[in-house]
Amino acid sequence: MPMFKKVLIANRGEIALRILRACKELGISTVAVHSTADADAMHVRLADESVCIGPASATHSYLNIPSILAACEITGADAVHPGYGFLSENARFARILEEHNITFIGPSAHHIEIMGDKIQAKQTAKDLGIPVVPGSDGGVTSDVEARRIAAEIGYPVIIKAASGGGGRGMKVAKSEADIGTALSTARSEAKAAFGDDAVYIEKYLGKPRHIEIQVLGDGQGGAIHLGDRDCSLQRRHQKVWEEATSPAVTPEQRAEIGGIVADAIAKMKYSGAGTIEFLYEDGEFYFIEMNTRLQVEHPVTERITNMDLVYEQIRIAAGHPISVKQEDVTFWGHAIEVRINAEDPETFAPSPGTISFYHPAGGVGVRVDSGVYQGYKIPPYYDSLIGKLIVHGRTREECLQRLRRALGEFVVDGVKTTLPLFRRLIEEEDVITGNYDIHWLEKYLGMK
Ligand code: ADP
Repeated sequence: MPMFKKVLIANRGEIALRILRACKELGISTVAVHSTADADAMHVRLADESVCIGPASATHSYLNIPSILAACEITGADAVHPGYGFLSENARFARILEEHNITFIGPSAHHIEIMGDKIQAKQTAKDLGIPVVPGSDGGVTSDVEARRIAAEIGYPVIIKAASGGGGRGMKVAKSEADIGTALSTARSEAKAAFGDDAVYIEKYLGKPRHIEIQVLGDGQGGAIHLGDRDCSLQRRHQKVWEEATSPAVTPEQRAEIGGIVADAIAKMKYSGAGTIEFLYEDGEFYFIEMNTRLQVEHPVTERITNMDLVYEQIRIAAGHPISVKQEDVTFWGHAIEVRINAEDPETFAPSPGTISFYHPAGGVGVRVDSGVYQGYKIPPYYDSLIGKLIVHGRTREECLQRLRRALGEFVVDGVKTTLPLFRRLIEEEDVITGNYDIHWLEKYLGMK
């Protein structure tokens, strides 16, 4: 069976370490790349080889394609794992690697491109039988057109940037009077943020949950789904707490939507891991986007399915079939992940600096994915995620009890972290009962 000899990991932090671990278990040599600010990082220390690819700024290092290509060349890496963020959804990068006979561990450049444009993504999803939010077929350019569609689908509506990401370039119009301003602000914000002013319009859902389906495709027309994750607890469209499976979805609904998505992925001949994100309201799923990469919250799925998603990604990229069949996928117990960010738990201002004391939680049902250690200096240049605490239990109740216990053990001194926020959240009635939508956390934090 073919397998890569050497994988270059084009990322940093906990995800670089996560990928490195999968490579080691597969007997693959690893190359870490790093900026000058990350010379002491754990992924650099544990990799077989490392290459400095530039200065601290991500644009000049982790996003620097020529530098990463040179690192492949110097080390003889035959594949690149992009992790999440950085170049993971950059079709040009995937294409350049292909031209250099280096395997991109991810889907084809073509699939990255389609899903990167939200209008095309939505159309593709619709054509493949995935339920979408009612709205315009394609982009809208004029006030008249926007008003006509809005009247058809009913207010409130949301105007969204085709090239959007990170929750930017979105404007809600509550009534016809708001349409003109919403359209022009969304367009100019989209132009400024993404260099593309194409926007589309869809029904605004008032109290949805964010529920996503994990998929794996083999690129040959085979695909499976690994169930759902509920990521409704968000702040500024950033997920902070994720669960598998969703407390709101029944096993029948899961099997139904999972089946629809897996069929679509198979028809597309999609290759590798991907996530289809939905808003879920009143028992209905509405597609919002597809992420063509591994996600931060993948460990909750790994925990309840007993699978290793990075192992699957690498095997698929090397031409192997998916290691399990749909009928062998079972969802066992419940898992929750909380994102430990180096941030003030009240203001969410980044809190870089040196970790003076570090004691991660442990014990039964606890997994910690992190690249930090005592004495580690968190650089101010990158996102503030320093670790993920993942807990598992036979039931959601047991999982919450275990999370409460693990949060009590976890110590990170020297910088502020979001740990105190989770210690508060776990005592909240709505969190305990799973009674929350995508606006719950911001309301709780007094942001709404
Ligand atoms: P991005 O790529 O910028 O993250 P998404 O399409 O995934 O954009 O939407 C981000 C968030 O915006 C969603 O998680 C949800 O909170 C909100 N949102 C998007 N579309 C709608 C909608 N039709 N109704 C209500 N909220 C929406």
